[in-house]
Amino acid sequence: MPELPEVETVRRGLAPTFVGGTIASAEARRPDLRFPFPARFVARLTGRRVADLRRRAKYLLADLDSGETLIMHLGMSGSFRVEGAPVGEFYHPRGQPGTHDHVEFAFASGVRVVYNDPRRFGFMDIAETAKLEAHPLFAGLGVEPLGPEFGPGALASVLEGVRAPLKAALLDQRRIAGLGNIYVCEAMHAARLSPLRAAGSLKPAETRRLAQEIRRVLEAAIEAGGSTLRDHRQTDGTLGYFQHAFAVYDREGAACGHCGALILRAVQSGRSTFYCAACQK
Ligand SMILES: [Zn+2]
Repeated sequence: MPELPEVETVRRGLAPTFVGGTIASAEARRPDLRFPFPARFVARLTGRRVADLRRRAKYLLADLDSGETLIMHLGMSGSFRVEGAPVGEFYHPRGQPGTHDHVEFAFASGVRVVYNDPRRFGFMDIAETAKLEAHPLFAGLGVEPLGPEFGPGALASVLEGVRAPLKAALLDQRRIAGLGNIYVCEAMHAARLSPLRAAGSLKPAETRRLAQEIRRVLEAAIEAGGSTLRDHRQTDGTLGYFQHAFAVYDREGAACGHCGALILRAVQSGRSTFYCAACQK
C-alpha cells in the first residue's frame, strides 16, 4: 500500500504534466473503482486546465480552472503511468498497456497519464475547490506532518491527555493525517520512544524529538523515492512504489542500529509494530 512518501513522490512525478497542462480528453473505462465515479466525470475534466497539483494526507488534488478539484486516491494497488512526450526529470518511456488500466487523461501537450489499479481500492472524485476542507474525506483530518503547521507544538497538542499507546495515537488520522504503519514505526525508533507508552506521557524534549524524527523519516523516504525515479527511467513508467531501507519496519529479529539488541514485533490494534525494547523507552 502506498504510504505518504510514495504519494508525494507520485505527486512530484505527475506535476510536470499536470500543472499548467490542459486535459484534452479523459476516459473512465468502468463505472467505478472503490466507489462510482462522480456524475459527468469525463465532461467535468475535458478541456480543463490544471492550476495546481497538491497533496493532502494520501490524497492527490488537481485544482481545475473550473473551480473544481479532481481528488485521487491510490488505495492499495493504484499507480500512475506517464506515457508520451518527455516532460521533466520524471519522464518514463512508454509503459505496457495493462488490463487494469481504468482511467486515462490525455493532455493537450501529447502526454497521457494512465491510472492502473488491479485491486480497485483506489478512487476518484470531483468537488468544489473552495469547499474542500468541509468535504467528508477531509473534514476530520488531522495536521499534515510535512506541512508548515506541524512541529513540537502541534504534536504536543494532539497527544495531550491521550491514554492510548503512542503507536495508536500516531496512526489516528484525526490527529496526524497520512502517517502509516511503516513510518510511525520508523519515527518512534528514530526518536527512541516506546510504541507501548501512553501517548500523553511524553515530556517536552521527547515530543520535540518525535516531531523532528517524523518529518525527517518522511523526507528521507521522499528523497529515496525521488532517486529511485531518476535511476530507473528504463522501467515501465510506473510512479509510486519504491524500495526503501527501513531501520525497524519488517525487521523482526535483526539487530537494532542504535544498540544491537534484537528488534521485536508486537501486535497493536491488529497491526504489527516493530521496535527495539532496549533503546525505545
Ligand atoms: Zn535499540
